[in-house]
Amino acid sequence: MSQNRILLSSPHMGGSEKKYVKEAFKTNWIAPLGRNIDIFEKQVREYTGIKAACALNSGTGAIHLALDLLGVGKGDTVLCSSLTFVASANPVLYLGAEPAFIDSDMESWNMSPSALENALDFYQMKGKLPKAVIIVNLYGQSAKMDELVDICNRYGVPIVEDAAESLGAMYKGRMSGSFGKFGIFSFNGNKIITTSGGGMIVSDEEILIEKALKKATQSKENTMHYQHENVGYNYRLSNVSAGIGRGQMEVLEDRISQKRAIFEQYVYGLGDVNGIQFMPEMDGAFHTRWLSTLTIDPQKLGTDAGEVIKYFAEGNIEARPVWKPLHMQPLFKGCDYFSDRADHSKYLFENGICLPSDTKMTVEEISRVIRLFRQIVSSDKVIA
Ligand SMILES: *Cc1c(COP(=O)(O)O)cnc(C)c1O
Repeated sequence: MSQNRILLSSPHMGGSEKKYVKEAFKTNWIAPLGRNIDIFEKQVREYTGIKAACALNSGTGAIHLALDLLGVGKGDTVLCSSLTFVASANPVLYLGAEPAFIDSDMESWNMSPSALENALDFYQMKGKLPKAVIIVNLYGQSAKMDELVDICNRYGVPIVEDAAESLGAMYKGRMSGSFGKFGIFSFNGNKIITTSGGGMIVSDEEILIEKALKKATQSKENTMHYQHENVGYNYRLSNVSAGIGRGQMEVLEDRISQKRAIFEQYVYGLGDVNGIQFMPEMDGAFHTRWLSTLTIDPQKLGTDAGEVIKYFAEGNIEARPVWKPLHMQPLFKGCDYFSDRADHSKYLFENGICLPSDTKMTVEEISRVIRLFRQIVSSDKVIA
């Protein structure tokens, strides 16, 4: 008898999304402009306290626009967190620039300030500072932004804050996404809220977001005829998708509470297992727990992360490895990498597991995950 499949993280509608999508149909604003877009952008501005926002059709596009607006081009270097999804660094390649990767620290799992400082030192000695630093906030937690911002300011290198996974997270009283010259969000299907597919670029400098909007709409000049002086893209979000986003913003706070409650249940059910360590929540940080993640000690548990994920799959439960660091990806072979004292991102990849964190899971389903995990790591495995 097969039990219901338990998912890692799936779209979870709040209820009013359909109403706003219908509104787009009723008014025939099916285009990439309209009331849903205006309201969705306003909601994100008000929620994050960031002054300006432009809704786009992906988070990847948002990073691309941010780097383009910072003047990144051929031959430039751009620093990027190594432990992340490939979308963080792909736009560096679109622009013909060279990414170089920075290790994580073990407290945040995000960019290590000391590794960043070493990297900036290295490039300064070489006489060519990076054009930008992409700092990623993984799994719902901010990086150590006070230290990282301070270091970047000292070297005069602007930050693009990849907050695709951290909408709603906070660090020392400020919202994730508000620390960089640009911040970016993603509303892809597995993120904490979704527009089916979408993203947003944000900044406190309104002029920069005006420029982003222009670039996202083919860089059309403000003339009656079609006049173009710069390269542009077709990156705007549809008003239909923005209707979904508008409804999702109404339930974002609920989703964060639900994600945190799922994590608390895992801690309650697994906290006594010797040889596992949950992703920490730093002092002064508010972690949304978009995904509940942990590392395991294969020596203590007699099994490794890959095996655990396989056992989960056999039990119809979707668990995933932690991101494979970009410095280990064939795509980025030969790129510079600045590790912390030990190679933390490699360690987190090799030993990390993302547990199901779907807000539609029932309490019983979470217990099923906990039971199976305990079975997998106990010495008397009964599963085939
Ligand atoms: C999802 C994600 C992106 C890309 O967002 P899309 O909307 O899927 O293009 C970028 N960075 C990180 C860390 C992500 O998780």
